Amino acid sequence: MKYLLVSIITVVAVACNSTHNSAQNSVPPTTVSSPSRVDYANTITADELKTHLYIFAGDAMEGRMTGQKGQKLAAEYLRNFYMDQGIPSPIEDKNYYQAIPAEYFGRMKDPKGSENVVAYIKGSEKPEEVIVLSAHYDHVGTDKDGNVYNGADDDGSGTVSMLEIAAAFQQAVEDGNGPKRSILFLHVTGEEIGLYGSKYYTENPLFPLENTVCNLNTDMIGRIDPDKADNPNYVYLIGSDKLSQELHDVSEAVNEKYIQLELDYKFNDDNDPNRFYYRSDHYNFAKKNIPVIFYFNGTHADYHQPTDTPDKIEYELMAKRAQLIFQTTWEIANREGRITADKLK
Ligand SMILES: [Zn+2]
Repeated sequence: MKYLLVSIITVVAVACNSTHNSAQNSVPPTTVSSPSRVDYANTITADELKTHLYIFAGDAMEGRMTGQKGQKLAAEYLRNFYMDQGIPSPIEDKNYYQAIPAEYFGRMKDPKGSENVVAYIKGSEKPEEVIVLSAHYDHVGTDKDGNVYNGADDDGSGTVSMLEIAAAFQQAVEDGNGPKRSILFLHVTGEEIGLYGSKYYTENPLFPLENTVCNLNTDMIGRIDPDKADNPNYVYLIGSDKLSQELHDVSEAVNEKYIQLELDYKFNDDNDPNRFYYRSDHYNFAKKNIPVIFYFNGTHADYHQPTDTPDKIEYELMAKRAQLIFQTTWEIANREGRITADKLK
């Protein structure tokens, strides 16, 4: 993913100081323009997402059941990626795991300890203000016949998108264009068994919750809802206007300017029978009055089936949705004013 973003706008060399035919010999000066947010967004590509997902949602990860071997292998994959990218941990050097003790999973039969995986990019001007990006990296494991539930869409898509978004921000940091506010990349465990990882984080936050600007949660962005087959250039947004009109407006404006997806609010309705607002990790942040956006593509025939596999993923569309999340994060991290929960009663 790492490459030098140089656009030679005009190449002008200082005219050699030979007086004769200086006009002929003069070449334009060389100025290297700083890469733009669009350049960084464009580093999030379908190919790289695909490379990650075929590994992360491959059979070797055994369906990433919380507390089981597959989940541990998945945690290592995430940690190794952040170490390779030079993106630090907010806990301590080389320790990217927020450990969760077995007893915390009290309702589980034979509970095992697990871990959230965390990485952090410190803000350059307002480091104390933190944007939390989240996605769950666990899934439901295997069935009694050994069939692996690969969870490519659920939530391999959100997980690998976060890796690519983090790498794009790290590229910006290395270019001296890092975000003004801090960003926490929070890969939570235990979502499928009861939103445990995000509950544990919000009860044991690594940064004060009052300094948490918002939570952008991604759970299933790699497929197309059969109801949207005629117009697949969409993403469902849930929760964006529940606590903060400002967050909603920023999200809309960024999409209009940079991405042009259809932002579909069908499941944002308080009376929606699916109750998706309550069914993924952003809800634990919303419960703490932290503004949230939940990015989602809807369910499909392979939802929670062994057939939710990487070959079924719409990688170009997934990349576009991931770029929307990148651009929204970029805006929130760099804008003058901090997003506020302006709708809190
Ligand atoms: Zn999920």
